[in-house]
Amino acid sequence: APRKVEKLRIAVQKSGRLNEGSMKLLKECGIDVPAGNNQLKISVDNFDAEILFLRDDDIPEYVQDGVADIGFVGENVVLEKNKDTKILERLGYGKCRLSIALPKGKKPKSIQELDGIKIATSYPFILKKWLKQNKINADIHVISGSVEIAPRIGLADAICDLVSSGSTLFSNELYEYQIILKSEAVLISGNNLSKRRQELLDQLLFRIRSVKKAKY
Ligand code: ATP
Ligand code: ZN
Repeated sequence: APRKVEKLRIAVQKSGRLNEGSMKLLKECGIDVPAGNNQLKISVDNFDAEILFLRDDDIPEYVQDGVADIGFVGENVVLEKNKDTKILERLGYGKCRLSIALPKGKKPKSIQELDGIKIATSYPFILKKWLKQNKINADIHVISGSVEIAPRIGLADAICDLVSSGSTLFSNELYEYQIILKSEAVLISGNNLSKRRQELLDQLLFRIRSVKKAKY
């Protein structure tokens, strides 16, 4: 029987803001991913790798558990999920900020004035840590989507959410008050790669770093 080839299993967001940048970077690294419609898993022809297409939120856990060897995912998600993975490289796309936003009229003179307010967010772990570091006592209300409508419907006084252009905040009569985290796409890996998979990862990392160098 033919020996089974060990492949590097690479997790990429299936669809959304990081899919295009991740696929483009792989392509620039010379990795040809065959066009497949709506597949979970695709094998690469010219590199011992397979691409797993997943929801971004699931990537840190899959990498921790060894279902995937590496993953392309937002640093915001990596820090929020707090799994046992390591960040190998910052990738320069998917840039955004995790910020506290307030209703237009509210202008606290210092962050200490946030004490006692109720903040809606999908990032309770990162927010809780920031509040603690800054000795602010605030109520965190976790919601999974459409965080920006929370103040208007009376669910919270403020939100903590991802911002890039600020247009979503603007159309909800909110403004960016305080940056909690500056994020971009990063490459993460688990901790127990086989010798062959580590070799493949080293090759890929070398190519990623060359692509980055050529850009700046
Ligand atoms: P999925 O279906 O995979 O769960 P999603 O809706 O959670 O997708 P996207 O909105 O596609 O996720 O965002 C993916 C990542 O893109 C974010 O976690 C973040 O790192 C990055 N990003 C960059 N700019 C923004 C932005 N303005 N809003 C949200 N995310 C952004
Ligand atoms: Zn998601």
